[in-house]
Amino acid sequence: MRRILVVGAGHSGLQLALGLQAHGYDVTVMTERTPDEIRAGRVSSTQMMFPSQLALEAAQGLDLWDAQVPKLPYTGFTIPGPDGVPFVDWLGDMGGSESVDQRVKMSTWLELFARRGGHLVLHPVSVGDIDWYSRNFDLVVVAAGKGELVTMFDRDHERSIHTEPQRRLAVSYVHGVAHRPEVGEKAVHLNVIPGIGELYYLPGLTVSGPCEIILVEAIPGGPLDRFAGVRDPREHWARTLELIRTYAPWDYERTRGAELTDELGVLSGAFTPVVRHPVAELPSGGIALGIADVVVANDPITGQGANSAARAAAVYLAAIVEHGDRPFDRDWMQQTFERFWDYARHSVKFTTALLAPPPEHVVQLLAAGNEHQAVADRVARAIDTPSDFENFLYEPDKTHAYLREIGAMP
Ligand SMILES: Cc1cc2nc3c(=O)[nH]c(=O)nc-3n(C[C@H](O)[C@H](O)[C@H](O)COP(=O)(O)OP(=O)(O)OC[C@H]3O[C@@H](n4cnc5c(N)ncnc54)[C@H](O)[C@@H]3O)c2cc1C
Repeated sequence: MRRILVVGAGHSGLQLALGLQAHGYDVTVMTERTPDEIRAGRVSSTQMMFPSQLALEAAQGLDLWDAQVPKLPYTGFTIPGPDGVPFVDWLGDMGGSESVDQRVKMSTWLELFARRGGHLVLHPVSVGDIDWYSRNFDLVVVAAGKGELVTMFDRDHERSIHTEPQRRLAVSYVHGVAHRPEVGEKAVHLNVIPGIGELYYLPGLTVSGPCEIILVEAIPGGPLDRFAGVRDPREHWARTLELIRTYAPWDYERTRGAELTDELGVLSGAFTPVVRHPVAELPSGGIALGIADVVVANDPITGQGANSAARAAAVYLAAIVEHGDRPFDRDWMQQTFERFWDYARHSVKFTTALLAPPPEHVVQLLAAGNEHQAVADRVARAIDTPSDFENFLYEPDKTHAYLREIGAMP
């Protein structure tokens, strides 16, 4: 039986480990926290998952919260003009997304892995550990997110665009937010405040039940960038509410009575989006393969990270199984990553586009969503399958051709 080591028990690591286990591999997961520690720990993401990736989880029988998690059939977009009045304000049909707090999801998946007979080694892993253990495994996959172990993987200068964080992030998990009256059903809602940043509303499921997850994406140094040094969760939430009152006043009344779900239901920080080379050389000559955030870390503005992690886990699983008994050498690792990159490059391109000020043709496209439901729906769906943006978002000619095709432009 082939022996595989997965380092890290996050989205990609656990989905891959559980998939390999189901195919009869001898799988070991090394990670730093027990399921109970994950469950009782700090939130780590807003983790909205789109329909295509939810289908991947369901195919592995990992959709364990279907009955409790709020279903999000729509995504909303609001952009105020210089007078503060929204000139883009629509809901697009994105076909059912959802967000299960990673504290809930990863702790449960990790327990499931152990219950099914997986080997679990609990301690913080160093490069030296990986070097040592790699002698005993046919393949080592490093799924350690944005932690220290990424330093094993060199930055890919050609594929990486940014050299510093593009947004400073502040997340709050709260109970008590009312729905937008026009929605009726639940929706994720994105407020884009030009030149300042973004404010997201995302209904989800956390440790204490259904909740609303609010994400502030602040352009560094701008007026939303208010969380540096804030340690008190109540102060964090008070600042978030104040920003909503000032920059998304249409959402303030439905939010002002909300309270944090728990003391650790807040998160703030920043990181630089990056693409890394997928193969790491270990000190004693072995090699390891990076997956998901280790090799492609996107800003959360477009909600692509956990979705890419799910996609990467599915691609790597298929590549491992198809490879049979042949050695997992450098060429195979590079090819496996390229199969994933074929998807991830679209996530990176879309995320890079959204981080920059929108050009005129994109503003035109988004504004057309007010009158033309087809535009709103297509944008919403393409967030799930970002390769479609190639057909109508990036180049003015293609955008205009699409707007003409649906009668939104003469
Ligand atoms: C604020 C924020 C909001 C986000 N919102 C979204 C969203 O809405 N939708 C979306 O798709 N994505 C979102 N993301 C991104 C998403 O959370 C990540 O891309 C995804 O979780 C990455 O999965 P992963 O498997 O690469 O790593 P992770 O899920 O981060 O898992 C890494 C694992 O490795 C372990 N680990 C790390 N270092 C070590 C070590 N040295 N030893 C042992 N174990 C180690 C960690 O404990 C963890 O278990 C968001 C991210 C942030 C920061």
